[in-house]
Amino acid sequence: MSTGKLTIDLGAVARNWRILCGVHGGGAVAAVVKADAYGLGAARVAPALQAAGCRHFFVATPGEGDALREALGDGPMIAVLDGFAGTRRERHPGVIPVLNSLDDIAAHEGEAVLHLDTGMSRLGLSPTEMEMLAAEPHRLDRVRLRYLMTHLTVAEEPDHPLNARQAERFEAACARLPPIPRSFANSSGIFLGPRFGSDLARPGAALYGINPRPGWPNPMEPVIRLALPILQIREVGPGETVGYGAAWRATAPSRIATVAGGYADGIPRAWDGRGRGFLHGKEAPLVGRVSMDLMTFDVSAIPKARPGDWLEVIGPEQDADAVAAAAGTIGYEILTRLGRRFQRGYVGA
Ligand SMILES: *Cc1c(COP(=O)(O)O)cnc(C)c1O
Repeated sequence: MSTGKLTIDLGAVARNWRILCGVHGGGAVAAVVKADAYGLGAARVAPALQAAGCRHFFVATPGEGDALREALGDGPMIAVLDGFAGTRRERHPGVIPVLNSLDDIAAHEGEAVLHLDTGMSRLGLSPTEMEMLAAEPHRLDRVRLRYLMTHLTVAEEPDHPLNARQAERFEAACARLPPIPRSFANSSGIFLGPRFGSDLARPGAALYGINPRPGWPNPMEPVIRLALPILQIREVGPGETVGYGAAWRATAPSRIATVAGGYADGIPRAWDGRGRGFLHGKEAPLVGRVSMDLMTFDVSAIPKARPGDWLEVIGPEQDADAVAAAAGTIGYEILTRLGRRFQRGYVGA
């Protein structure tokens, strides 16, 4: 096979969910499986979480919600973070919307989650709208709220003052509404301490192995491995260049392995110059530009390397966060862009 192998450990996802349940303490823990479970495949990931005991799921769009209902069957709550704007509730009978404005409330009847904006200034009721709602609680008469939720903006920076301010604003806003269970922390928020606990945490990234505490040892289990096949190995003499733009020039006789995988598969082009692959326990630097379907690695230090070998680019030695850091992005973006061309294998189910 001449495309990369992406291996996704569903057992590790389930164990990560249990780790988060333990850290969160008393309240329940949902799973955020938007964007196809951060690129890992919601149709496989969500049932594994359901089998582990997860009963609440969040997606971004109504279409994602419908597909998830098919995968999970009746039972678990499926809430749509972006709400139902532009579509009709009747079209999505298996899912409930997150209401993000007074207009959303007015247009809805039945179960829902209500989003209060406490600092993101993105979705959710603005402070002015919250005032209006507190003054006119009858606006909620036709709505059955399962949760009041808010979303942290800088939870991965524990010392940032906005965390405590959002907790205060959320407490104050909830206190002015009828008593309804609350949903607060994302992955990083779960690690901020008891003040950020709630009836329902909403982690996404940490389930998939992304470090919720950047700068500290990752408490989560690794979930994915990505290995790319070596298609050819070329001997390159001193002074010769490799790849587009002649961006890398050999200074000594070098063995250059060309692997299947490039920016069309979600490998950031900005990885150029800082990327690494691993083979037979040794490191091979990425040399030359990342091209659409191919990358070139210097395997001079790995004499055993042969065409057909698999060069690991995401795994225990270099996780998605490390790839992201080297390419100037975040692990979330690496996961959600992992290409559809890879052969996907699920283990640990
Ligand atoms: C994506 C998202 C989450 C999950 O965030 P992570 O940082 O991946 O844990 C939780 N809540 C809302 C509103 C989100 O949009």
